[in-house]
Amino acid sequence: MAMIVTTSAAHVRDIAEKARRRGEKVGLHPTMGALHGGHAANITTMSRQCGLSIVTVFVNPLQFGPDEDFDAYPRRLDADIAVAQDAGADVVFAPSQLEMYPDPPLAKVAVAKVSERWEGEHRPGHFDGVATVVAKLFAIAGPCWAYFGEKDYQQLVVVRRMVTDLSLPVVIVGCPTVREADGLALSSRNQYLDEQARPAAPVLYWALLAGKRAIEEEGARNADQARRAMLDVIGKQPLAQLDYAAIVDPSTLEPLGAVQGPARLLIAAQVGSARLIDNVGANEDGS
Ligand code: AMP
Repeated sequence: MAMIVTTSAAHVRDIAEKARRRGEKVGLHPTMGALHGGHAANITTMSRQCGLSIVTVFVNPLQFGPDEDFDAYPRRLDADIAVAQDAGADVVFAPSQLEMYPDPPLAKVAVAKVSERWEGEHRPGHFDGVATVVAKLFAIAGPCWAYFGEKDYQQLVVVRRMVTDLSLPVVIVGCPTVREADGLALSSRNQYLDEQARPAAPVLYWALLAGKRAIEEEGARNADQARRAMLDVIGKQPLAQLDYAAIVDPSTLEPLGAVQGPARLLIAAQVGSARLIDNVGANEDGS
């Protein structure tokens, strides 16, 4: 089947409905475009697991703050269509702003607590914007399997919680972070890194690995000790300005005191003109 590219929500709803009637699993991968190898890997996973794979490309104004990069955010739909097709998508849904928000929305979805810390503190209202647009995409696609990257770990937690709390007919599938050879997590915002900042950018991942090692190999049972290992690494890179480094409960995102079971290590830093985020899990076997 040739890939369908559409700007119409009604068209997507109809295609998804027909697929479900044929007994197919419908997959959905929401993105803001500027697709890279991380998105491609997620799309390929989805297309192996689902009969119909829908990729959405929409730069959602609701999730950008007034001083953020909404206008500058890279937009290249033709290239995105090619990436989605190569990765195995069946449908690309690229709505206009008017299609998604014919009127300024009065209703919104807010997921308390898990939206408030970390990225939420730095970007007030961001996760309300994410939850609202994702809820709309779920309403358009109908019952589906929705693929989200672990790269944006807090977003994954927020969306999972929204689905649970609102009983939405969606299964959330988390996809592992795809990295460059030097460890930098792929991100559409990496293109803001200049020649000087690019080699410094993997320091976020190195800091995460130092924290993970402290927990898993050096037996740090105290989160502060592991956090110090992260700070030591990031502190050695003068181009990186740390925003936060934290060791948190994987589902509540509350900071841990003692590390007794699974933990998530989160980090955010400004490197040159790019603000980067990354994370890894520790003790994932439940130890
Ligand atoms: P974005 O277009 O940046 O909003 O991302 C769309 C989806 O792709 C989100 O679920 C992201 O978490 C996911 N994603 C972004 N970067 C990566 C990556 N490096 N590896 C895997 N998934 C990613």
